[in-house]
This record gives sequence, C-alpha cells and structure tokens, in this order.
Amino acid sequence: MAKQKRTAITPTRGENYPEWYQQVVRSAELAENSDVRGCMVIRPWGYALWENIQRSLDKMFKDTGHVNAYFPIFIPKSYLEKEAEHVDGFAKECAVVTHHRLEEGPDGGLVPAGELEEPLVVRPTSETIIGSTFAKWVESYRDLPLLINQWANVVRWEMRTRLFLRTAEFLWQEGHTAHETEAEAWEETRKMLEVYKTFAEEYMAMPVLTGEKTAGERFPGAVSTLCIEAMMQDRKALQAGTSHFLGQNFAKASKIQYSSREGNLEYAWTTSWGVSTRLIGGMIMTHGDDDGMIMPPRLAPSHVVLLPIIRKEEDREAILAYCEEIASNLRKQRFHERDVEVVIDSRDINAGEKGWSWVKKGIPIKAEVGPRDMANNSVFMARRDTMQKQGVDKDEFVANIVETLDDIQNSLLQRALDHRAEHTREIDAYDEFKAFFTPENKNRPEAHGGFALSHWCESGECEDKINDELSVTIRCIPFDRAESGEGACICCGKPSPGRVVFAKSY
Ligand code: AMP
Ligand code: ZN
Repeated sequence: MAKQKRTAITPTRGENYPEWYQQVVRSAELAENSDVRGCMVIRPWGYALWENIQRSLDKMFKDTGHVNAYFPIFIPKSYLEKEAEHVDGFAKECAVVTHHRLEEGPDGGLVPAGELEEPLVVRPTSETIIGSTFAKWVESYRDLPLLINQWANVVRWEMRTRLFLRTAEFLWQEGHTAHETEAEAWEETRKMLEVYKTFAEEYMAMPVLTGEKTAGERFPGAVSTLCIEAMMQDRKALQAGTSHFLGQNFAKASKIQYSSREGNLEYAWTTSWGVSTRLIGGMIMTHGDDDGMIMPPRLAPSHVVLLPIIRKEEDREAILAYCEEIASNLRKQRFHERDVEVVIDSRDINAGEKGWSWVKKGIPIKAEVGPRDMANNSVFMARRDTMQKQGVDKDEFVANIVETLDDIQNSLLQRALDHRAEHTREIDAYDEFKAFFTPENKNRPEAHGGFALSHWCESGECEDKINDELSVTIRCIPFDRAESGEGACICCGKPSPGRVVFAKSY
C-alpha cells in the first residue's frame, strides 16, 4: 500500500472539511472559542489579518468619499420597532439589556437590579440608531449626501456558530448613507458592492459573483439587497458582503427629512453595506490546504519569515547578523501598499516544528538560514502556495521578493478562479440538478455540488421547494441575468427571464 503523504492538518479537506476548517483556525493561531457561547477570541495573528483588512478597506471607503464615525452599542427597543420588517427580522437574535447594576441576592450571589425603564438592545446592526442621528443632522438638500462608515462590533444571537463564519459577536464595518435622490442612493449601493468585489478579488484573491438577493433572502427592511458570493473549496457558497438599497423605509421610520431644492419637505433615500470578520473564514476556505492556512500576500500579517538554523552555539551571532542584514534589506522593499514585513524567528525550539508552525500560519515565504547557506551567501526559501523549495542567492532573494509575492498573490487568485470554473455548470433538467447537489459517495460528502446556473420563474414557492428538498438556495440573481437568455424554471417549468445562481451555502 502506498504510504499516505503526511499532512500538517488532520483530518484533511477530503476526509472531513468542517473539522479541517476548525483545525486550520486553531493551528494557525487565528482564533479560538471563548468561554462565552458563540463568541470567539481573535488571537494576534488573526487580529493582524483583520487590521490589514481594515486598513485596505478603510482606504477604499475614504477614496470614495466616506468618513468614519462611531455610534452607541445600545439601541432603545423603541428605535428598533420603528421599522416593522426590520424588527421582525432581527427580534429573534437580539441580546437585550434590562438592568443596570448587580445587587446581593437572597442566596448571597449577585442578581441584576435597577430595571431599565426601556430595555436596550445590543446593536445587531445600526440603521435605526444612525437613522435617528441622521434625522438631526439633515435639514436641507445642502446637508446631503451623508456618507458615513462605522467600524464596530455587533451581536446577533446565532444558534449555530462557527469561528469567523458565524459568531454571536462579530467585528465589521457598516456603511450608512443618506441621499437626495433615489438614483443617487442606487448608485451608492452599486458602487459599494463594486468596492467589495474589488477588495475580495484584488486583496483577498477570492473571486466573487455579484448580484441581487431574492425577496426571501433580503435584509429585513431593505428594498433590495445586493451581495458578493464566493465559492469555497468544498464548493459551498459564502455570502461575503452585502450592500442594501433601503429606499425611503428607514428615512420614514427615523424621519430623515430635508427641504428640497423646490422648498418641499422630502424623505431622504438611504443605503447600508457591511462586511465582517467572516471574510477571514472566506480566505481560509478559499486558499487553505492540508498543511494549513495560506495568506494572500497583500493581507498577510507578515510576508517573510527568516529561520536561523543554529547547530553550533559559536555560529549563533554570525547567523543572526546575517539574518538581520537580509531582513533590513527586505524591509526596504515596498510590496503593494506597505513595506515588506519580515519576522526573524529565533525561538529556541526544534527547527522542524518551528518551520511547520509558519507553514500552518500561512506566511507567504519562509527562508531557512543555516551555516552552509551563510557560507554560500544564500538562503533556502520555500513558497507557501506551491511548497516549492530552493536555495537562492541572498541578494537575488531580496531583489526578487516583490515579484515573488506578486506571483503568489496572482497564483492564488487564478487557482480559485479555476476551481470555481470547474464547479460551475448550466443545468436545465431537474434530475441533473438534483444529482449535482447529491453526494455520490457518502464518505466524501463535500465532493459534490458547486454553482448551478439554472432558470427560475421568480416564485417564492419554487425557491422554497428546492431549499426544502435539497438545501440549495438562490445565492444571487446576476445583474446580467437577461444575457443568459430565456428558459423554463428548473422546478416548475414556467417561463424564466434568465439563469440565477443556485448553491448550498454557509
Ligand atoms: P447584513 O447586515 O445581515 O447584511 O450582514 C452584513 C455582512 O455581515 C454579511 O454579508 C455577512 O458577511 C456578515 N455577517 C452576517 N452575520 C454574521 C455573523 N453571525 N458572523 C459573522 N459575519 C456575519
Ligand atoms: Zn418555478
């Protein structure tokens, strides 16, 4: 029997994809479960990744005219109730604060006391509290548009949680804007979806489809929800970001009114848009392999790790000096929007174990430096994406670093594009549709499915029927749907104006 290749992560993706995911998160030291149900601890390596996401996105928001502000974590219950659909949608997931202190109870333990007159909801999203502020800020058309973003934590009491992908508390940004006209608000909704798409593809190396959600999947209170959808390696879809056109619903609920150019009192048109720490889960499941995380270089917390290999104590000083020199030359190079970031890992632990710890963390480039490398003026480098190793001249290594990082970034995107293309199919017969979404082999449940581009008659019944039978949902209605031509609904056979994207999803 052929000996199986040992992998740093067990189980492998093929053996048990969900468990593989947990193990990658753990062994890359990205995050861990906390003692609080559904809430995670984001570890420094994971938080550094989040900071890089924040920095890059924040710049894109500012380049499109937005400014940051901060609003309260607590929302009076009555604010949430102002928009009927909105409160209906979020009521089941709200954490509610009802008391404001603790007192000694009859059994000696502390009990909540000082009941609040009005309960406060821990924000699940901030449309209502920001809306009430916007109402105060806006008087005339001259005060518009308002283009605000907030970086914050939010709480949604999710029942089934998974590190990064779905947690009860998560970190995100939420953009909230108010406009004079419907057309302008629509333009904003589309523009920010494009920002998300650009970010996903150019920074995360994660290709996404864009489109509109069906009425059933819409954000509670929105007129229309646009989304970016990515395909993970198990071929399931991940909703990676949303941009909502809110019409005048929230403006009416919060009384965001302005006097128009004609002197009439009008309601503003608003939008909101958000991405969260879920993006980190998306990167893990797009790029990670059976040896762990693979960081796309543009967001990687560090680009290069240098590993001094010290066999004899008398070599230590010289090898460390050699590493320092290489590091300082690397740091003078600029990759994309930052200086090349280098770690020298001189921890006194087993060299093999040390090397693997960086593989599992997904650092793009690792270079070992031992006495022989130093004597040859070289380093022994390895690329994380291909795991290819080679000895290279140290000056060449430094001179080529930016090109190598670019190449890794591009290869990761290409690999993900190929994967998506391989598992995207036009399907016109329900039998084939059903087979596509049914595991052939029970032992490998993840090896099936993908994106089915199929016709849909636009009825909620067909959508529900497919979801009930196959746990498959419409991920998005592509903007260019009509270009795929007319056809017959995959479920009922009635006329369809074009194909939509069906998939199983996270
Ligand atoms: P929404 O306000 O519902 O449109 O959510 C905005 C974005 O936040 C979504 O596109 C998701 O990517 C993300 N998101 C929603 N719920 C969660 C959650 N429980 N944990 C992590 N991310 C979430
Ligand atoms: Zn139908």
